[in-house]
Amino acid sequence: MPENKVRKYFQLIEAWAWCDICEDMISLNIDKNEIISGLEMGIYTKEYKHANPSPDLEDTDDVSGQEHTIYVYINDNYDITGVKSFFGESPSTEEIGAETIEAGGEVRIPVIVKEISPMAVQLGMLTKEQFKVLKICDGMNTIEQVASIAQKSVEEIEKMMEQLRKKGLVKVIKRT
Ligand SMILES: [Zn+2]
Repeated sequence: MPENKVRKYFQLIEAWAWCDICEDMISLNIDKNEIISGLEMGIYTKEYKHANPSPDLEDTDDVSGQEHTIYVYINDNYDITGVKSFFGESPSTEEIGAETIEAGGEVRIPVIVKEISPMAVQLGMLTKEQFKVLKICDGMNTIEQVASIAQKSVEEIEKMMEQLRKKGLVKVIKRT
């Protein structure tokens, strides 16, 4: 899989993100102001709906011609820290299951139990880091993927999940 790339300009960035469904790089221009104003504690999630204009018509498994969405996670340095592709309005844990079962072994997917407002940080209920990580726990990312997107170690994320679980904010779904 080719690496995601970003070219940074004064006003905007040009991003190339790998879409698993198209099996191709998707190119996007994103205004830096959009990223800055959408950054929630260090991560912006760019949502982009698209369809592959030239799907493989002879391959019945190729569904990339149908509209789907990619999430491109961008940090405050305008770098891509993760990408997710899915069909429908929002990523579902079902799709995660299908994707990860192939990889084998047990996977752990942290999911937010309660919607948390940025106010929780101002009130000192959560640290900025915890809030940032919670935003990535959308049911699509495994613990390892959350760590990679947040640019932290798996051990740090595991520790944080345990703290958040005790606060009743997160549950970790296990799949085999
Ligand atoms: Zn695509």
